[in-house]
Amino acid sequence: MPTDIEIADAAKMQPITEIAAKLALKKDDFEQYGKYKAKINFPVKEISGKKHKLILVTGINPTPAGEGKSTVLVGLGDAMNQLGHQTTIAMREPSMGPVFGIKGGATGGGYSQIIPMEDINLHFTGDLHALTSANNTLAALIDNYIMRDNKLGLDPRRIIWRRVEDVNDRALRTVVTGLGGLSQGVPRETGFDITAASEMMAILCLSESLHDLKRRIGRIVVGYSYEKKPVTVNELGFTGAITLLLKDAIKPNLVQSLGHTPAIIHGGPFANIAHGCNSVLATQIAMARSDYTVTESGFGADLGAEKFLDIKCRVLKKIPDAAVIVATARALKYNGGVDKKDLTKENISALKKGMANLARHVHNIQKYGIPVVVAINHFDSDTEAEIQTIKDACQEMDIKGIRVDAWAKGGNGTQDLAKEVIALTKKTYDFIPLYDENDSIEEKITTIATKIYGAKRVVFSKKARKQMKQFAKFGWEKLPVCIAKTQYSFTDDQTKLGAPTDFDFHIRDLVPKLGAGFIVALSGTIMTMPGLAKHPAAENMDIDDNGQISGLF
Ligand code: ADP
Repeated sequence: MPTDIEIADAAKMQPITEIAAKLALKKDDFEQYGKYKAKINFPVKEISGKKHKLILVTGINPTPAGEGKSTVLVGLGDAMNQLGHQTTIAMREPSMGPVFGIKGGATGGGYSQIIPMEDINLHFTGDLHALTSANNTLAALIDNYIMRDNKLGLDPRRIIWRRVEDVNDRALRTVVTGLGGLSQGVPRETGFDITAASEMMAILCLSESLHDLKRRIGRIVVGYSYEKKPVTVNELGFTGAITLLLKDAIKPNLVQSLGHTPAIIHGGPFANIAHGCNSVLATQIAMARSDYTVTESGFGADLGAEKFLDIKCRVLKKIPDAAVIVATARALKYNGGVDKKDLTKENISALKKGMANLARHVHNIQKYGIPVVVAINHFDSDTEAEIQTIKDACQEMDIKGIRVDAWAKGGNGTQDLAKEVIALTKKTYDFIPLYDENDSIEEKITTIATKIYGAKRVVFSKKARKQMKQFAKFGWEKLPVCIAKTQYSFTDDQTKLGAPTDFDFHIRDLVPKLGAGFIVALSGTIMTMPGLAKHPAAENMDIDDNGQISGLF
């Protein structure tokens, strides 16, 4: 089997004008970024008569290697079109942190990829750079403000706006800025987050228009005054400047899959330390012009799907018609206690044990009422007996487990899943929200931790308790919460695999993100700036004198 980049390089792409035509986009509806990429101008009018169905692809808790959610999603999009169901893919854009780190790209794999993958996985149309610039321009303006007359009395010790970059850079997690004497500004302790975890990214992903983008940027709380009052970007007077830095980034990007399915790739928050879904605009445009839109949310359903349903859907005002949970025999065995190096060996008893993880994710999605199917992403090392074990376990849960060969065969290997998805979207169901937005912050966090993660109770730090009181005083209680948690476990401890019960879940800190419109609750020891592994993917990457890229998976 050729590598991802070899398959992508060999593909013959259709001109982006042809892909745009599939969405009935006219000449003035998009701007071309070269031959194979475009940015879509909005608003985009809905075509009446379309089915406008939405399918959410999510997964079990991943193993450190990533288990093929994007691959299955892309294969599904291609398979649906092959079967004559007009479908568009809506996905997140990759962050260069994981691309050069360990996780790899975010454009799928094998014969189920979005192309041109080398562009999308690197600088693409510059959205992440624009977000980084907007974020850091605001940081520079804040530092300048406190060095000058600081009319609002912004307390340098209480500034919560941090700098960001799209790199896994642990050395910048905590820094002191403004050192070097009087004219270098006011020294203060701060730090860097990865752009994908920034509030600016969340704002881009949740904005419905340029007007909404501006409104949200204005609402950002950058810190507190000496009187301990929140200070916003509007009060500082920087809203216009920051918004204009995002005038192009806010437009969704159009590309294609290997099967020439239109793919709208826009916004890329991580699901562990952010809300984990592509932009609302991308999903809205895809739905407006398609019978079916297949979209994703990051990591396991405990993180990505919960945030999709409790944060994004509130803005989107649309709930999924069906959900696909991607599982692999390897990941289930890993959850059943098998060592990483032994995952390619058949082990039915460990697989059965690990099924507890899949079962909890299935039941969680069913708590919302959503019809669900399990996609068994097939790896070469899987045995027939292992696949059958997963299918049997799904049958016991009264749902289907369907083998998918998206990686090896693209859409052709994903048609069985596509047929079941189409059947599920014909069902009607009553959506059951997980929590009421009028619940207190403590109640919302407790509901997610106990009902979705399976925790016995939530232990809040002294700091978090104080913050909850303060936030209630400021009137921020009605906002949804976005829990930052390890992706590897239902708990806040990444070593606890499977489906643990009877555990305490720890919240150490809360961060108000008024622009995004949610409160981030940091659990365990999760960090908002990832580090690089001992052997980062960067070690294998190269480009030759003719521009030929290698090692990009
Ligand atoms: P996720 O979205 O869950 O992070 P991806 O779809 O990005 O996972 O896949 C992660 C990596 O695993 C990619 O390099 C992809 O090529 C590879 N992969 C996915 N499915 C398979 C499979 N069935 N067999 C072999 N490799 C696979």
